Amino acid sequence: MLTVEEALNKILAGIEPLPTQTVPLREALGRTLAEDIAADIDLPPFDNSAVDGYAVRSQDIVGATEARPIALRTIADIHAGGLATERLSAGSAARIMTGAPLPTGADAVVMVEDTRQGPDQTVLITAESQREQHVRRAGEDVRRGGTVLRAGTRIRAAEVGLLATVGRTLVPVFRSATVAVVSTGDEVVEIVEGLAPRPGKIRNSNLYTLNALVREIGASVHSESHLPDDMAETITAFRAFSDPTHGADVIVTAGGVSVGDRDFIKPALEQLGTLELWRVAMKPGKPVAFGRIGRTLFFGLPGNPVSALVTFELFVRPALWRLSGIPLGQLARPEVLAMVTEPVSHTPGRREYVRAITTTNEGRFLTRPTGGQSSCNLHTLALANSLLIVPLDSPGLRMGNTATVLLL
Ligand code: AMP
Ligand code: MG
Repeated sequence: MLTVEEALNKILAGIEPLPTQTVPLREALGRTLAEDIAADIDLPPFDNSAVDGYAVRSQDIVGATEARPIALRTIADIHAGGLATERLSAGSAARIMTGAPLPTGADAVVMVEDTRQGPDQTVLITAESQREQHVRRAGEDVRRGGTVLRAGTRIRAAEVGLLATVGRTLVPVFRSATVAVVSTGDEVVEIVEGLAPRPGKIRNSNLYTLNALVREIGASVHSESHLPDDMAETITAFRAFSDPTHGADVIVTAGGVSVGDRDFIKPALEQLGTLELWRVAMKPGKPVAFGRIGRTLFFGLPGNPVSALVTFELFVRPALWRLSGIPLGQLARPEVLAMVTEPVSHTPGRREYVRAITTTNEGRFLTRPTGGQSSCNLHTLALANSLLIVPLDSPGLRMGNTATVLLL
């Protein structure tokens, strides 16, 4: 059986980012930049004030205090969006608002809180100011032509704002993967509001989970379907989902991938394409399969809801992120070392991902299981914010042991 790392490396080795495209800025959230982005103007674009107050020549107000204020002549009132047309000469000041252009001659701004109104168009400055204080100089963040974002960056709200700042309404991104999500099983039924499933049947939670997982990580759902445990129907569906023109980039199934006599996922994959790996030394989720049908990648996840979710996180998410252009070195979730505060039992042989709550206390991470670890118990996964990793050969963890935790 492959280890988790071996399986992931094998999967990622055969994946290249999808082609690039240009999308409107509003649709760029969650995508990955395909090119470096340069500033088309200086940032900030012009010298301006960081506060509401008075633009001054700092040499004019040396020694100013509350008890001995210095009076300056107010020669202008500059608002954000306005222009600074007057030049400051000795003994003068300009009232100025945050973001308004700094007048020539000024080298500092005094906050309005350090001023008082004086008689006859004067202002009393009640505190000294250093040169450059509360002044934002043109280009001090980024010079025109400087790179503000690198290719391979995932676009979050901050990146959207930065793209807007440098005037990019059209953004070069990698195409995001389309995913055909498929649940399987004769026992699985559609959810009907207010109606409990008949005896022997269970509600189809996996289809909803997979749909949510795909969208949560920024990929798009090509189609959603449920397959009965039937070879012919499975083959027909996989053919359609891997169609070169209308198919998906990726097929993700849940269930039917083990060794039951009505598990048809693997044989169907082998008949239409290639099975590249099957079974990973992990718990939950051992019977995970990966392969391809034509140019479509194929992930067969186990049917147990927790196994499906954990294997999606460990294998499908990195693959979809790679397809969407994220560099290989940036696919991992953050991991921390945490002190285990409750014992965790473990049978050596597979690496276990235990649903856990991880908190911080006085600068240390603490972690404990959320409860029952049966792989159909989604409730304890919903309570978790992390997966506590028990090494493959561990005899179990005791209170006080240190464990690696994957933050979700
Ligand atoms: P399988 O991998 O098909 O043997 O399924 C393993 C377990 O997961 C069984 O208990 C199934 O009933 C359950 N299961 C399979 N598919 C789903 C689904 N779509 N929603 C919820 N549970 C499922
Ligand atoms: Mg099944």
